[in-house]
This record gives sequence, structure tokens and C-alpha cells, in this order.
Amino acid sequence: MDLQAFFEPRTVAVIGASDKPGKIGHTVVANMLGAGFAGRLIPVNPKGGTIEGLPVTTSAGDLPKGLDLAVIAVPRDAVLPALRELVEIRAKSAIVITAGFKEVGKEGFLLERDMAALAAESGMALLGPNCLGMMNTGHGVNASFAAGQPSKGPIAFFSQSGALCVAILDWALGENIGFSKFVSLGNKAALDESRMLEYLGRDPNTKVILGYIENVEHGQEFLRQAAAVTRAKPVIMIKSGTTAAGAKAASSHTGAIAGSDAAYTAAFRQSGVIRVADVESLFNLAEAFSHQPLPRGPNLGIVTNSGGPGILAADACERSRLHMASLSPATIAKLQSFLPSFAALYNPVDIIGDSDPARYKQAIEAVLTDPMVHSLLVILTPVASVEVEATAQVIVDLSRRSDKPIFACFMGKKQVAPGRRILQEGGVPCYAFPEPAIRSIESMYVHALNRARPEPVYPEVVRDLERARAVIDRAVTRGLTEIVEFEAQEMLAAYDLPTPKTMLARGSDEAVAAAEAIGYPVVLKIASPQISHKSDVGGVKVGLADAAAVRAAFFDITTRAQRLRRDAYIAGCLVQEMAPKGSREVIIGFKRDEQFGPLLMFGLGGIYVEILKDIAFRLAPLSRADAFEIVREIRSYMLLKGVRGEQPVNFKAIEDIILTMSRLALDFPEVYEAEFNPVLVNHERAVVADVRMTLHLNGPETHSQE
Ligand code: ADP
Ligand code: MG
Repeated sequence: MDLQAFFEPRTVAVIGASDKPGKIGHTVVANMLGAGFAGRLIPVNPKGGTIEGLPVTTSAGDLPKGLDLAVIAVPRDAVLPALRELVEIRAKSAIVITAGFKEVGKEGFLLERDMAALAAESGMALLGPNCLGMMNTGHGVNASFAAGQPSKGPIAFFSQSGALCVAILDWALGENIGFSKFVSLGNKAALDESRMLEYLGRDPNTKVILGYIENVEHGQEFLRQAAAVTRAKPVIMIKSGTTAAGAKAASSHTGAIAGSDAAYTAAFRQSGVIRVADVESLFNLAEAFSHQPLPRGPNLGIVTNSGGPGILAADACERSRLHMASLSPATIAKLQSFLPSFAALYNPVDIIGDSDPARYKQAIEAVLTDPMVHSLLVILTPVASVEVEATAQVIVDLSRRSDKPIFACFMGKKQVAPGRRILQEGGVPCYAFPEPAIRSIESMYVHALNRARPEPVYPEVVRDLERARAVIDRAVTRGLTEIVEFEAQEMLAAYDLPTPKTMLARGSDEAVAAAEAIGYPVVLKIASPQISHKSDVGGVKVGLADAAAVRAAFFDITTRAQRLRRDAYIAGCLVQEMAPKGSREVIIGFKRDEQFGPLLMFGLGGIYVEILKDIAFRLAPLSRADAFEIVREIRSYMLLKGVRGEQPVNFKAIEDIILTMSRLALDFPEVYEAEFNPVLVNHERAVVADVRMTLHLNGPETHSQE
């Protein structure tokens, strides 16, 4: 959608304009004038007359044809009629400030739906309802009822919460932070975060994009837009409602349905969006990105005038994706030539408490020119002799001349305040403590990596869709909501998934014959469409070494299952090849997320899964790189890699199964949830040793599978 008329209008009407100061319809007019709008501004009010010296039009229907933007601030029930009139005159865009829609209940919800439909039919860009409005500082537009005019700057901000817009605007005015665009999204009946990303990504006046959202409207579209934008600009977002309480508050707030946090985490990660937890970090990063160059690598140098803070910073660095740079011998020799004998010459470089600005300058220059250093953190502790302001000025001067990012950490508050001001004005991000400084540098590094990431590769998955479809259809016809292991064998075969040799035996003779064909030892598992948790009814016996053991197990498993689950139809037992020695158990599964579609998960299997909750997530479709990363992301990765002489498992084999699972999830929307648990993997191969799939009760949902 083209948002030029919306963001850069030449004609703007304010519907519900008022001559009474304090009324929203007055503030919008005053704000437009205050922003220095150079186009034509037309107040609309049935009473006529003039407002702020501008002649008033009495009806929206009388507005000039092809109007660029209408700002609507009339009572709720007058909004839809006003929009209809605007459609008549072919207005290109509208902002509905008025509240009382989706966020208040059914009646409002229906009205909002009609508004959205009207906008969609007529191709009108619609912001809101229930929003504060929009500002474009580069075009003299303040189509909002906010107090205060922000200055121009490289930061674009959009927010689902109008109240947060107000607060941030006020804060930005106090901190002298400028914006390119400032958008209050409100209920997002039409324009949403995806459209903002699409537009702002191409906006030459925007260098950094910030967003606050409570939910994403169209998951797949968001992923697409965000992934494209983050190759060029940093996108930093807060997604609130991550806790259960927060999610509940969010859903009554703008009527939003908050998706599962794991899905959001995966979405941000896969699309390269930097997620932060609070408003302070949002603007810390915005400042960093707008003034400092991106680091060209992970290696951090630290120059400090005190030991403790230097160690804190080094610790934080090691916990992050950055590394402590090891300085070259030449740099160390240089440092040694001018630093006092008891200074620490290795990174972190401790230049001692009595450091004056000149020593800071020499040390920073030495470390900064070391080719092994990609970014620099300068720490200052306000010991008695330190010259806070002069040191700050030295850092600013060096930063201006450097193509590597420089951050400062001036520890404390009161004493260092004048220094911080100099740094901030000079574009050097300054923090009171090392950890947030490290986090910011890390985020810049991660963004640099994201920009350079190769185009994703989605490998072909060979499969027999008809054969798989037959399995699903059979289950649906029989009214099953679950497909259990013995029925899913066909499905596994259709997707060419590796499985242990498996045969269905209806009696103990057949079981022995199967075991002989497969080769001892074998596993026996209960085969019943109604029993999905086989171990719970004593339905799995492993390590059966001979015919007698197989016979006994068959009898034992089937009689016990029949006794415990009288309702269950028992088809017999699966006889299965034992996983080879040294196999480890992992889980590969997916769950369908409302906003984002299939959410794949990978984790260590076995009896500790529930306790460890060591799981990583990615949204489908997974690329080769996603599959590579997901298996390495869990904490237990080291266990799979092997400890004390163990061989590493065949990671490629696991990744292939993950990619196949991702394909299956997209092929069959009627499968709501699926789990391969366990997948047994050793250094040679991986096999799917158990499957469970849950089907939608009433067929697949129709939404959001773009
Ligand atoms: P369920 O999850 O329904 O109880 P599974 O088929 O997952 O049944 O079996 C339970 C456990 O038995 C697995 O987690 C695994 O530890 C073990 N197991 C299952 N199949 C095999 C096999 N082919 N080789 C070795 N161990 C197996
Ligand atoms: Mg299982």
C-alpha cells in the first residue's frame, strides 16, 4: 500500500474540528499549524465559521475531491458516516482518533469491522481507531492531539499504546531526542506494524525504527516485512504482554489477542528484530544506532580507570555474544611505553585511578587502532582526581574520528552528570553501569550480523502427499482427534522419515516372527488408536532379547492395556528395532500459533524434559540455517556434541527431520500439533521412534495461512 498521501499530505481535513481550546478537535488543528504545515488545512464542523483563522467546511462531503488525509475526531457513532462521505470524495487516507470500538465490546467491534471493510474496499489508508494520531516532522505534519512538537531526528517510532506515545513524546522532549515519524497505531483496524515496517524501511529520513506492540496482526506478513527491513535498518521493539498477567491486560486493552511468547521470540529472532524489555533500552539502542557506526566484529576493548568495573564489564562481555579482544603485542608495547608500571596492559586495560584526560586519550587511541578491536568501552569511575568533563570531551573527539563504535560508562550519577551531557550531545552513548552498555554493543553487533546474513535456503522435502493425505482422511473419517504411533507409520513413510524397523503383530506368534525378521533385541509397544501415552499403561517394553521375552511381553502389554483401558480397541503390538547403543533422545515437534502459524520446537528428550524445559523454537518454514541454529541453541547442546570422548550425534540427520516436520506442518493445516518423541540419535543416524499428532476437532481453521 502506498502511504505517501498519508505521511506527506498536501491537503488535510480535520473532521470534528473545534474552536474550543482543550477539545481534541481543536488540538489537532493547533498542532498542524504549530508543526508548520505548508499545505491546505481544512477544519470541518457543521457549525461553520472559522477555527484558528481558517474557514470551516460544514460537511465532509464538501471537501475537495481526492483529499490526501482526513483526521476524524467525532463521536463514535458519527465515525462510520463520516468515513462513507470521505469515500464519496475519494479521500486517500484517514486517521480515526475516536475511541469506543473493538476495545469496549461487541458493538464497537462490529463497527470497527465495518470501518476496516470500507477502507479495504475503497483503498483508503486507515489509521486507528482509538489512537493519538501521526507526526511527520520532515513534512510539517502533526496530525495528533499530543501535547508538544518533537524535533526532527533519525528515529521513527510506532506504538500500539497511545498513552505510551504521550509519555515517550514528553520524555523525548526532555531528552532532546528527535523523530522522523511518530505513529500511534491504536486498534490497528487497517494500518498495522507490518505496513509501518514496509514504509519506514524505505523512508530516507528514518535510520532506526522503534516499535511498541502488544500483539502482531498478521504473523506471516510481519515476518516478511521485518526480515526485509532488518537487512537495511535496525528495528527495535518492545512486545509487552509476555507474562500471563500482561497478556490478559493486553487483551482487554486494545482488544488484542496476544500470541504465545515463544512464537514472538522466534518471530523476532528469525526476522532480525531486536527485542528489548523496556522503554529505556529502546531509546538507549536508538541513540547508539543513530550516532555510532556498526561494529565490524565481536571483539571488544575496554579502557578503565578502576579494576572492579572493568571486571564487571569483562564478565558481561563474556556472557554476551561479544568477545574480549586480545590485544596485539604492538598495542601492548605501546601501552607500556606511557602507562604507569602498575597499570594492567591486557584487556580490560586498567589505566589507574589517577588518570587524567591525556592518559585516557593515549590509551583509547592505542586500543582503538588495534586491528583486533572492533568496538570500545571507556569506563570512568569518579574518583577524587578525575576530570569528568575534559575526559568526556576527549572521548567525543576520538569518537568523531573513529569508524569503530565507542561507548562510555561513567559510573554513578551526580558527579558524572556534566560528563554524561557532553557525551550525549557528542553522540557517544553513556551508561551508569557496564552491563547495559555491553548489551547495546551486543545488539549492534547482532544487527551487523543480521544485515550480512545470507538469503535463507528452504530445502526441498521429498514426500508423497497423497499417501499422507490418506492417513489424515482415514483418521478424520473415523472421528479421531489423535493419530498415534502405529497409525502414523504410513505418514512417516510418506515423508521418507527414517524410522526403526517396525511391524504390527496381532498375536504373539506374529510378534516372534516379526522380532526374528527385525533381529533381537526388539521393543514391543501397545498398538491401539485410543492409547496415545503408551508407557502410562505399561505399554512399552524395551530390550527384549529372545522369543520367550517377546511372547511374555506381548501377553503382558495387551492384557494390562485391556484391563486399564476397557474402552480401547487393541490391534496388537508394534514390534520395533531397538535404537543402537549410545543413542540420545531428542524431541522434535510443532504447535500451531494463532498469529504466526506452525511453531517448531526442538529439545532434549527423555525423562528430564519436563523439568529442564530445555527447548528452542522457530517458526515454519524453517530455513537450513534455522535448523542448524535450533539444534545448537538448547543448553544441552554440549550433551549432544558429546562429553569425555563420546562421539557427537549426527546433527545433520536431526536437522533433516526438523525440516521435514516444518514441511509437514505447512502441508497439513488440519494437524494442530505433532510430536516426534523420542527421535533417537547417535553418531550415525537418527530415527523417529514415536509419533503423536493432534487434529483439529472441526477441521482446520481458515485464518492466517498466507
Ligand atoms: P510413549 O511416549 O507413548 O510412552 P514411546 O514409543 O515414546 O511411548 O516409548 C517410551 C520410551 O521408550 C521412549 O521415550 C524411549 O525411551 C523408549 N523407546 C521407545 N522406542 C524405542 C526404541 N525403538 N529403541 C529404544 N528405546 C525406545
Ligand atoms: Mg513418546
